[in-house]
Amino acid sequence: MDKIDLRSDTVTWPTEAMRQAMANAAVGDDVYGEDPTVTQLEQDAARMFGKEAGLFVSSGTQGNLIALLAHCQRGAEIICGDKAHTFVYEQAGMAALGGIMPHTVPVHDDGSLALDDIEHAIRGDNPHFPRTQLITIENTQGTVGGQPLSQTYMHSVADLAHKHDLKLHIDGARIFNAATAYNVSVAELTAGADSVTFCLSKGLCAPVGSVLVGDADFIHEAHRMRKVVGGGMRQAGVLAAAGLIALHEMSQRLQADHDNAAYLAEGLSDIPGLRVMSCATNFVFFYLEEDAKLSPDELKAALAEYDILINPYPGFKRKFRCVLHYWITRERVDHVVNALKTVLA
Ligand SMILES: *Cc1c(COP(=O)(O)O)cnc(C)c1O
Repeated sequence: MDKIDLRSDTVTWPTEAMRQAMANAAVGDDVYGEDPTVTQLEQDAARMFGKEAGLFVSSGTQGNLIALLAHCQRGAEIICGDKAHTFVYEQAGMAALGGIMPHTVPVHDDGSLALDDIEHAIRGDNPHFPRTQLITIENTQGTVGGQPLSQTYMHSVADLAHKHDLKLHIDGARIFNAATAYNVSVAELTAGADSVTFCLSKGLCAPVGSVLVGDADFIHEAHRMRKVVGGGMRQAGVLAAAGLIALHEMSQRLQADHDNAAYLAEGLSDIPGLRVMSCATNFVFFYLEEDAKLSPDELKAALAEYDILINPYPGFKRKFRCVLHYWITRERVDHVVNALKTVLA
């Protein structure tokens, strides 16, 4: 990766090992269930999450949509965070394609939804109301700064869901970052969930793909839903080969990214004109003070001269998000800190 791209972990390139594995992948027609590499990825992911089955999907958005379509009937309501990816960034796919209505509750700065808020949002059995069918939780919670949610919290939400006969779906696009932050396995972290989506393509560096896991009946239904949204793929083993490396190897090295995030936050802490707002998992947010030497656009342009790509967070003028990942080594963090020191001096 030639530039120092801090805009997101979605920008990660596949590693050399992934490119080799992709070139040599055994493939078949996965719509016929005949791609051995896809099958292996789905089985390995299910085993790792302690679930019965897995389904390879093209993106996290598709995985979440399929999960919601598989869990819910038309006219159902789901409970989700008001800053959840499924609510904010997925074009209301649940409503547009599934006839599902989101009922939002506030996302707190630590990424959690208050259990009381969730419980209050659950509808009683009354012909005036839609039926609540699902709760969905995001871990890590991206919009509030990559906050990881603990095993204890996740289990409380699962208990609440099941007490009310609801399903629980986890949008675990970055679930391995959460597991790393709490030093637990993804199976422990998601033990109470009926389904989990996670991305192979972000910090895990695969070029394409997410996996949805759950019990066999759920995955059977999800498989139908994947087909109806046009997500059946043919010789997808070429992609799954990179996914296997993401799942088994890249998922185990995320502490390095978290350490680099903390290192970056520390480096930024004494640069005039910057205020570090938060640092969690692989995310650092900083605020460019009004009296800083450069405007947000000027800062972005000045850093581009140093081959550093960085963006104000969508919807905010002076708030910047830096996302650490495999291609941002410690030396590159030093380069970023030095560049910021120079341009803001
Ligand atoms: C990135 C992301 C998704 C969607 O993934 P895509 O592969 O970009 O569709 C879903 N949820 C969260 C929390 C994400 O960060």
